[in-house]
Formats: sequence, C-alpha cells, structure tokens
Amino acid sequence: MLRLTLLCIALALCAPLPAAAPATTAAPGAASTPAPATLPAPANAPAPCRTAPSDTRPWPAGEIVAGRIDPDTCFAAAPLDAATRSRISGRSYKEGCPVALADLRYLRVLHRDFEGRTLCGEMICHREIADDLLAIFRALYDARYPIARMVLIDDYDADDTRSMEANNSSSFNFRPIAGSRSLSRHALGRAVDINPLFNPCVRTRDGRTTIEPEAARPYADRTRDFPGRLDAGDLCVELFKARGFRWGGDWRSLKDYQHFEK
Ligand SMILES: [Zn+2]
Repeated sequence: MLRLTLLCIALALCAPLPAAAPATTAAPGAASTPAPATLPAPANAPAPCRTAPSDTRPWPAGEIVAGRIDPDTCFAAAPLDAATRSRISGRSYKEGCPVALADLRYLRVLHRDFEGRTLCGEMICHREIADDLLAIFRALYDARYPIARMVLIDDYDADDTRSMEANNSSSFNFRPIAGSRSLSRHALGRAVDINPLFNPCVRTRDGRTTIEPEAARPYADRTRDFPGRLDAGDLCVELFKARGFRWGGDWRSLKDYQHFEK
C-alpha cells in the first residue's frame, strides 16, 4: 500500500502542468500600440517568437521587445501567408507586378533602434535574397547597429515618401524609380533601403539638387558625421557588399545612400 501511495505521489509530481491561459493584457513596458487580433499561424510560417510570456501574437513587428527573448528563434523567412497577402494587396503588391507572390518571402528579424532598444522587425523581399538579408540583419543586430524602424511599407499605404520620412527600412514595393518610368529593383523585392531619412537619395541635375525625401535635407551633407550615416567604411555597407549587393552611395549619376540592390 505504501509502495502504491509513493507511486501515486511520484506520478503526480511528474505530470505535466496545465498550460497557462494566455494573458489578455499587454506586458509592462510594451509599446502602447493596440494589439492586432491574433491570427492563427499558417502551416508554413515559422513558429512565433514570443517577446514576453503574455505575448501570443505571431510577430508584433514595430514593437519594442518587452521580455526576454532568444534571438536564435527570431530571424526567419517564410512564404507569404493569407493575412500578409491581403495586407499588401492593392498597396505594395498591385496588378501588373512582375514578381509572383510565391517568389516573395516574409522576413521577421530583430533590430536595435537609435535608443539601443530591441524591436521586432519585418520585411518582404524576393526569395533569392532572403537568406542574405537574414544573415545581414542578424550580424547588424549582434553588432548593435541602429535601424530606426522596420515594418512593411504597406503600413504607409506603400507611399515611399511617407515610409522614408518615418525612417522606415523596407524592401519590396511595386513602383517605378522615383522620377522615372522604369521599374525599381524594389518592384522585384531585390532592393533594400536602410534608415532612409538619414540616408537620402541626392541627385544633381542642371545645377539643381533634389533630395528624397525632402525632409532629409539636413542629412544630405555627407561631410557631417552622425549616427546611422551609411558610408564606405560602414558595417552595413560592408555586409551588403560582401554578399554581392550594389550600394547606391557608389553611383555617379546620383547618390542613393539608403539603397542596396542585387
Ligand atoms: Zn531603394
């Protein structure tokens, strides 16, 4: 009888604990942005990276990481799920887009902002550069390299100027090159803009200089030194070039300091 009692106690101790019910309130210190409705993770998506024990959302991009986190679980690429497809449809993805939805990848990454905080980031790019970008963003994160913001350009209605003014780093957007009818490499998801407010596109034609975005005029003087300035010796520039990307800061006809393409 004693043996049976001991066995029962041992079994009770080894039994798994019931799963805690997900909390409905935001973790202390989380960003004040209201949480979007939780969507079931699609079968082909990477497992959610939880930023805090109470956070059950698939990937709260644009928010400050509130709890402990394992970076090894937070850098991943996946085909676009139904929710993401509808999020970009009619915005960055429009009729006539030369790249198939199946060739695009949704990246989730971590990045540090200019205050040193860790944020969840997201980006859509062509599948052929997804591994490059994951490796580059992981190296930048490990080096505490500042990236102000990284959410889909669709949060700005795919308006490049608004996204640049928000210093938002992004890749895929079906649009022509600004001031031209040619398609940008962004339209194929093969170009990336990093910290665009601090690294504008500067073009001088007939003695007249245009700066995109116009709000970036204080950063067009590249003789000044400031955090986040992309130049020849910059870690971000070196990482992109090491993976075969061309940097817009090397161009002669114009200087697109924020831009990398492959
Ligand atoms: Zn660009």
